[in-house]
Amino acid sequence: MSHILIVEDVEEVGQVLCEFAQNAGYQSKFYPQFSHSEISQYQDAALIILDLNMPINDGLDVLEELSHTGLRVPIILCSGVSEDIIDSAIDVLHDSGLVFGGKLLKPFTYEQFVAAISQAKHQTPTTMKTKTKAVELTRGDLSIAIKNGWFYSVFQPQIDVKTNMLFGVECLSRLNHPLFGECYPDAFIKKLVEENLMDEFSQELLLSSLNALASIGFPKEKRISFNIDPCSLHKDLLANLETNVSALGFLPQQICFEVTELSAVTLSKEVKSLLAKLRLRGFDISLDDFGTGFSTIHELDILPFNELKIDRSFVANMSKRKGSMAIIKHTIALAQDMNMLVIGEGVETKEQARQLKEMGCQYLQGYYFSRPLDLISLQAFMNQPINRLGAG
Ligand code: C2E
Ligand code: CA
Ligand code: CA
Repeated sequence: MSHILIVEDVEEVGQVLCEFAQNAGYQSKFYPQFSHSEISQYQDAALIILDLNMPINDGLDVLEELSHTGLRVPIILCSGVSEDIIDSAIDVLHDSGLVFGGKLLKPFTYEQFVAAISQAKHQTPTTMKTKTKAVELTRGDLSIAIKNGWFYSVFQPQIDVKTNMLFGVECLSRLNHPLFGECYPDAFIKKLVEENLMDEFSQELLLSSLNALASIGFPKEKRISFNIDPCSLHKDLLANLETNVSALGFLPQQICFEVTELSAVTLSKEVKSLLAKLRLRGFDISLDDFGTGFSTIHELDILPFNELKIDRSFVANMSKRKGSMAIIKHTIALAQDMNMLVIGEGVETKEQARQLKEMGCQYLQGYYFSRPLDLISLQAFMNQPINRLGAG
């Protein structure tokens, strides 16, 4: 039986939580005060419930300390304070590379507790390891990693909420380094650009990801999105791409390239022309992190994007900030008027998914539906019905 660790300064509340955990079939460990050394021994605990309001070290200090333990146990944040404070703590939790398990607003019932822990289990990533912000990779590390094939993709599902079907996957790169462990894009993307290795990296990753997807029979009618840095957009990419895509039995219409809005602001004439060529050959081009890169409506008009991705910061704040909600509404309307697809990303809750669907955003992506998955988990995901929002 696995453990639920409860970090809660009020003795009575702690006891109740322990009882709830036991009734739900878990062993429980109650810590009236946070203990770094004890908690970090429980690498295989089912989850942690953390009260944000504690007199000695408050929940945010605890998150800071936990971020140094390498713990990948989902954390449920619990508090009686207003929900927007919990939401800021959730941001801190994500930024610290910890696993968010959900939130519990005090007072809560046993039923709410059980719902929260089952949601947290759903969020448990089997493949996630420690974020690697601290790792300083050198040019040599990166170059060897490309040559040895240590970079690979995980695949985050995108859901069509009209049909409740998988629409496609976004490929997100990871590095499995023999010394540094699993590294995330924040540890290598910028450096790859600085060291002029981005091109080599993109070509290898594209091919290995397509190969991986072909090996599980990824269907022809589902899309595959890649993040691409403008410096990799040149005619060699196009030539290799067309050969590889058709050799692996995929179609150009399945492939989408995501360019962040920030990098799209300064595109050279050559890159713009290549984007247009990609569209002419049937590939999709998506403007990623839309709303954060200050592109003008004019640029949107002249660049050949056929998809907008609403940045996850707006989705995260949609229930708290009127501005975020307004930006989302207008982005959806703009996309529809311009005949573009629109994808809402960073969807973490049912409420966000419901509201986005109601506003006409047909495609959604985020932890609420699924974390980025390794190949085997993606294969299992593809064969399951997706019904997180109900029919229709
Ligand atoms: P992005 O393109 O905006 O990708 C989405 C990021 O948000 C991913 O982080 C994903 O794991 C995370 N995410 C997905 N759903 C949720 C959610 O519900 N909540 C929250 N808080 N986060 C969510 P990741 O994998 O760490 O990637 C970070 C960024 O690195 C990507 O942001 C993308 O811009 C860049 N990147 C990743 N792979 C590549 C690549 O192969 N090439 C290039 N040029 N950039 C890449
Ligand atoms: Ca992206
Ligand atoms: Ca994005």
